[in-house]
Amino acid sequence: MADKKESKKSFKAYEPGRMCPKCGVRMGAHKDRLACGRCGYTEFTGRSEQPAKKRDANGG
Ligand SMILES: [Zn+2]
Repeated sequence: MADKKESKKSFKAYEPGRMCPKCGVRMGAHKDRLACGRCGYTEFTGRSEQPAKKRDANGG
């Protein structure tokens, strides 16, 4: 009899393998950016790659 084996692998949506180019530690995956909890390196991974834009926001 053939034994059925459950081989289900659940992968995360984002790509788990983002390391800090500075220290090389796992970076925290944020909404649209990655932040290193060691040196503070931040990498934006937004869909639209745009430089820091000036936005008028009320309250901060
Ligand atoms: Zn770092």
